[in-house]
Amino acid sequence: MAVEKDSRRFGRKAISVEEARTRALQAISAVGTETVDLLQASGRRSAADVFSGEPVPSFRRSGMDGFAVRAVDTAPASTDSPVRLKVVDDIPAGQIPRQALASGEAARIMTGAMIPEGADAVVMLEMTDTEEGGGEPRIVLKRAIKPGANVSEAGSDVALGELLLKRGAWIGASEIALLATVGKAGVSVYRRPRVAIVATGSELLRPDEPLISGKIRNSNSYMLAAQAGSAGAAVTVHDIMPDELDLLLPAVRRLMDENDLVITTGGVSVGDYDVMTDLLHEWGGQLLFNKIQMRPGSVTSAAVANGKLLFGLSGNPGACFAGFELLVRPVLKALQGAADPHPREVMAAIGEDYPKVNAYPRYLRGRLSIEDGRAVAVATKTEQSSRLLPGLGANAFMVIPPGGNGVPKGTLIPIVLLEE
Ligand code: AMP
Ligand code: MG
Repeated sequence: MAVEKDSRRFGRKAISVEEARTRALQAISAVGTETVDLLQASGRRSAADVFSGEPVPSFRRSGMDGFAVRAVDTAPASTDSPVRLKVVDDIPAGQIPRQALASGEAARIMTGAMIPEGADAVVMLEMTDTEEGGGEPRIVLKRAIKPGANVSEAGSDVALGELLLKRGAWIGASEIALLATVGKAGVSVYRRPRVAIVATGSELLRPDEPLISGKIRNSNSYMLAAQAGSAGAAVTVHDIMPDELDLLLPAVRRLMDENDLVITTGGVSVGDYDVMTDLLHEWGGQLLFNKIQMRPGSVTSAAVANGKLLFGLSGNPGACFAGFELLVRPVLKALQGAADPHPREVMAAIGEDYPKVNAYPRYLRGRLSIEDGRAVAVATKTEQSSRLLPGLGANAFMVIPPGGNGVPKGTLIPIVLLEE
């Protein structure tokens, strides 16, 4: 037994982050769907391709306050010989014009109002003078207006039948506005994946407990709840578990039954009390990986049972954060149907020398910004995976490649963009 335990701890085979992500993504399929009210659709993912059942606008609309005219009537207009048109209607937004325009006629019209039959352009109010001619109002134009000026044709914004959202598309403010415009009051979305979070570690206290000598407060559960929540999950945070396999095993089994995904933190390393390492071998699921070529977080582990994933993230706050962003967030996206769940990566210049040499790629918490038109990334604080402060203000991981002699300032390196 001791030999077997040693091989679990020390005989692990490290795979790349990309390979680990692929294995995790291949192990799952999207959760079910539900229909929610538009106001609840923000931050969800569409469960269907959504096509517009209407053209937008549905009628020819004025883009300006002014006068609807027949462009051909204005063609001879100049400063020396202005054109005069009789004003025969006044059309507010939401009303139907009383009459079609005949030659020599114009209609007062407001922004968003329906263009009358016969008219094909709108003259801005500011470009006209008005006068009374024989008791009837007229406008005086000193310039020709082009056909189509300030007119939004029916379907010019959205065509009838146009694809608005692809299945799996994230729904934000602009998407909701489109759905509202075409009358989709209910939206079919993927339901929120149920995610359970459990911190393991006999040294852990809750934030509302007074500090006891030798103990620390559990920060990972709260960090993970925020991360998973921002990725669209319905999160429950469970009681801290001590480093005792007998207690942890039934608790994890129950949570796996009740949830779509379970995240534990702590206990996946090589220490004597790292019980998650043992659990991942003894609980009956299939181990996907227990070592990744990344720093921090190389002991990040995952297993699958009945199509559900169990992630064992490191207890180190920096490693736990990285494990979530690089592996769990993509899975949560895929559970909600995202077509491309992978983190977004760009190249940017490193803003300062990085002197250390790593055996694995290092994911440094940093800040990407634009300086003199160039993308530059700098570490937020001296990185140490146990430190919490480098997380503040970080909007990216700077990926320091392994080997070499450190990375000089100005070198282009991959940057993984963090999501809010
Ligand atoms: P472990 O992964 O259990 O070896 O823990 C690695 C380090 O992270 C240790 O210093 C732990 O005390 C610390 N740690 C473990 N769990 C948590 C947690 N939930 N919140 C904050 N720190 C933790
Ligand atoms: Mg521990």
